[in-house]
Amino acid sequence: MNKISCDICKDLIPLVKDNVASEDSYNLVKKHIDECNKCKDLFDENIEVNQNMNDEKVISKIKSQLILIALILVILGSVIGLGLSESEGMFYNILIMPIIGILAYSALRKKSYIVLLSMFAFIYLYHLIKYMIDGIFDKSQLVSSLMAPLLWTILYSGLCAIGMLIAFLLYIAFKKENK
Ligand SMILES: [Zn+2]
Repeated sequence: MNKISCDICKDLIPLVKDNVASEDSYNLVKKHIDECNKCKDLFDENIEVNQNMNDEKVISKIKSQLILIALILVILGSVIGLGLSESEGMFYNILIMPIIGILAYSALRKKSYIVLLSMFAFIYLYHLIKYMIDGIFDKSQLVSSLMAPLLWTILYSGLCAIGMLIAFLLYIAFKKENK
């Protein structure tokens, strides 16, 4: 048995692709697609589909890992930064916040704005709650009470954004050098 029909070839192609076909089947498929363009196209098409699927899986896995890294960065950075806030160590934030920005951009590139937005929200809420607990929050002056936490929020987020900008410029410069 040296020749198989196109139908049999079609049935065997997935087995060959998954490396579960016997050697005889493998040879028959190879021989058939050497002579039959229609089945060869089908064979090649299947390879591409499989590879695309694998690529997508890998990419989505990497993406979810990166988002996890970003989240850890935000939480860690915000907690350390806010812990130092209003103490003597506060000035370390001038270093910590940009470093978070640099790390966030390195991990997420364009998506690093998510880190910035999360930090913005986190820092704002932290100060708002803190002011409420401390009794600084004044309901009769709602607008200015809501504005008060913005000072720290803008300061810290701004420092983080500067870090992202530095990383972005370094990335661009590095990219140009490579060309
Ligand atoms: Zn064929």
